[in-house]
Amino acid sequence: MSDPRDFHVLIVGAGLGGCMLGALLERAGVSYTIFERAKQVKPLGSAIAISANALAIFEQMGLYDELRSFSSIILHGLVKDETGKLLSDSDYTMLEER
Ligand SMILES: Cc1cc2nc3c(=O)[nH]c(=O)nc-3n(C[C@H](O)[C@H](O)[C@H](O)COP(=O)(O)OP(=O)(O)OC[C@H]3O[C@@H](n4cnc5c(N)ncnc54)[C@H](O)[C@@H]3O)c2cc1C
Repeated sequence: MSDPRDFHVLIVGAGLGGCMLGALLERAGVSYTIFERAKQVKPLGSAIAISANALAIFEQMGLYDELRSFSSIILHGLVKDETGKLLSDSDYTMLEER
């Protein structure tokens, strides 16, 4: 029987999905090529929110502790309109437990 890893994966797009898949394949010892149409990466310098259910994959990759070392947990979410009027105030403290 041939080795199940004896193939080459073609990934179209070096976005979050493509790069994460590439990293997982790398760990699994599967060869891959990522194709990206953008000619350059433009760092936006903004924050990214990662939901609790997405943290499992960081744990699987052994990156969870490092990720948590420079992350903050969102405990409150305020949504305001363009005048600053408060539209909603959400309590996310239960997410820490999840
Ligand atoms: C302003 C903004 C803020 C966001 N903030 C968050 C956040 O805080 N938390 C969160 O979880 N999500 C956030 N998202 C959503 C998140 O960015 C997307 O869910 C995620 O990027 C999707 O990943 P993806 O790999 O599927 O697609 P993308 O990240 O869109 O990547 C697709 C890639 O494929 C390339 N591509 C497309 N077609 C081809 C082709 N034919 N050949 C080669 N390359 C191709 C594109 O150039 C692109 O680089 C945000 C989105 C936006 C727009």
